[in-house]
Amino acid sequence: MVRSGGRHPLRFKVRYGVHQHPTAGLVLIDTGYGPRVTEGAGRSLPLRIYASLLRPRLIEEHQPTRVLDRLGASTADVAAIVLTHFHADHVAALHLFPKARIYAKAAVHARVEARSRFSNLRHGVFDELLPQDLSSRIVDIDQLSVKPAPNGLGEGADLFGDGETLAVNLPGHAEGHFGICFAAQPVPLLYAVDTQWCTAALDPGKAPGLPAALVASDRRALAASSRRVAAFREQGGDVLLCHDPSDSPYDLPEVPQ
Ligand SMILES: [Zn+2]
Repeated sequence: MVRSGGRHPLRFKVRYGVHQHPTAGLVLIDTGYGPRVTEGAGRSLPLRIYASLLRPRLIEEHQPTRVLDRLGASTADVAAIVLTHFHADHVAALHLFPKARIYAKAAVHARVEARSRFSNLRHGVFDELLPQDLSSRIVDIDQLSVKPAPNGLGEGADLFGDGETLAVNLPGHAEGHFGICFAAQPVPLLYAVDTQWCTAALDPGKAPGLPAALVASDRRALAASSRRVAAFREQGGDVLLCHDPSDSPYDLPEVPQ
C-alpha cells in the first residue's frame, strides 16, 4: 500500500508482515490499512478527516485477503497477529481475523479502552477500528519470558517460546511501540516498524527524519530508540521499516501484470 499527500506527492509504503512459524502457525505482523479507514459507511467524522488528509491509496493486490490467497492461505488460516501499536495503519483490517490470537501489550490496550474516543484521538488511536472482543484475545507480550536480542539490541519478549522471534521495546513513536527481531536469521533482522520512516534517517550523523519526529508521542524516547536501531544495523543487522519508500528484499514481489 502506498499513501500520498500534499501538493508534491510523497509516497510512503505501509507494510504489514506475514510470518510462517513452525509451531505458532501463520502469523501476521500488524494488518496495514483497509477499507474501514477509506470508505466504511459508518466511519466517525475524525476518521473521515484523517482519511481525507492522508489519502491512503489501497492497492487491491496488497490487501491481506489477496496476499494470503497468493501464498496459498486464507484469512481463517491466520492463527495470530502481532500488533506493534494501535495506530490506524496497523489495526485497520483486524476485523478480517475474528479468531486470531492477538499478541499485544495488554496494559496499552486497557488504557485505550479506558479513555474516551476523543482522548484516544490525541494518541492517534481510532478505537472504532478495534474489535470489541480484543481484550479476550490478547496474549500479553509483557507477561512472556525475555531473551537477549543480537547486536546489542537489549532483550525482547520471546513471542513463540523458541528465542527466535523477539518483541523489542522501541518507545517514542506511540504508546507501547515495539519492533520485532528475527534473531535466528543468518543476518539478524529487526522490523523496527515506525521508529523511522526512511532507512536513510538511521545513517550516522542523521537527526531523526521529519515525518517520524513530527508524529512522535515522545521525541526524546524516539531519538534513543532510533540510535539503538542504528547501532543494531551498524553491527551487521538488517533493518526494515514500515513506511520506507524504497523496495526491500523482504517485500513480496509484485504480481506480474
Ligand atoms: Zn504508527
